[in-house]
Amino acid sequence: MKIGFIGLGNMGAPMARNLLKNGHALQAFDLSEAALRSLAEAGASTCSSPKAAATDVEFVITMLPAATHVRAVLEGEHGVLAGIAPGVTIVDSSTIDPASAQAFAQMAAAQGNAFADAPVSGGTGGAAAGTLTFMVGANETLFASVSPVLGAMGKNIVRCGDTGMGQVAKICNNLLLGITMAGVAEAMSLGAALGIDPKVLAGIINTSTGRSWSSDTCNPYPGIIETAPASRGYTGGFGANLMLKDLGLAAEAARSAKQPIFMGALAQQLYQAMSAAGRGGLDFSGIISLYERRADP
Ligand code: NAD
Repeated sequence: MKIGFIGLGNMGAPMARNLLKNGHALQAFDLSEAALRSLAEAGASTCSSPKAAATDVEFVITMLPAATHVRAVLEGEHGVLAGIAPGVTIVDSSTIDPASAQAFAQMAAAQGNAFADAPVSGGTGGAAAGTLTFMVGANETLFASVSPVLGAMGKNIVRCGDTGMGQVAKICNNLLLGITMAGVAEAMSLGAALGIDPKVLAGIINTSTGRSWSSDTCNPYPGIIETAPASRGYTGGFGANLMLKDLGLAAEAARSAKQPIFMGALAQQLYQAMSAAGRGGLDFSGIISLYERRADP
């Protein structure tokens, strides 16, 4: 297939590479010249606008930071909607709020294009390995037509419901992830302060009822899990600022549904404090720094 791909960042670039490896032809666009150059070396043709990337393709995929970027790429005289042919499907894999996804689907439908939300989990490792989980918001017919393309970038392609429901699944998952990470950081820090060997404590948690991905795969205490960001200075994982963004999406969605999220609101403030301390670019497991103890002067 000939695919327009927009947004070649930490996630988009490896996803686009997997499409190329699977024999698809890509027309790529990103604001970053370096990102474009790197993908051109992998075999993509590069474009000077979202409109150009969406012209003469069978499919358009966007992988951008937030809803404002998706809107900017879709709208305007140089936007995707100005270049795309009727009948071509747009898939947005960015993590954004469900209401924006539904609004973008309406904008696309007004000119005869289908739009599916398909946010992902699996991180940059999953993007590179082609093992992402796609949480898709689309009707059954649209889901059947987008699945084969998404299958070149992911392992689990799940229909979560109609438009916006992929984003609902994603923000609920990340709400829980933000909470469990803060919880594991708190328990590990308390145990260490009380004198238990952190490795022994982690071993108990990971074979007991406190276990979670945040404890057994991405434990925030340094030196527990060799492959976790905590064991390499909290670099190269899922940035705390992105977690903060996702908790903001959950808070906004909760507000519109008049549904309380007590733990999520507290977690949001914890990551806000981490970000305010200048650590927002580090992996979100660096939240454990809030529990650091210092001797009295
Ligand atoms: P990123 O910041 O690394 O990449 C975003 C890319 O979009 C950049 O290359 C940037 O130049 C480009 N961009 C921004 N505005 C643009 C515009 N107007 N036109 C064209 N290109 C534009 O972000 P990322 O880590 O790749 O994340 C993308 C999305 O995926 C986010 O919504 C994020 O929450 C979500 N996500 C990230 C991870 C992760 O581990 N990084 C995991 C799951 C989901």
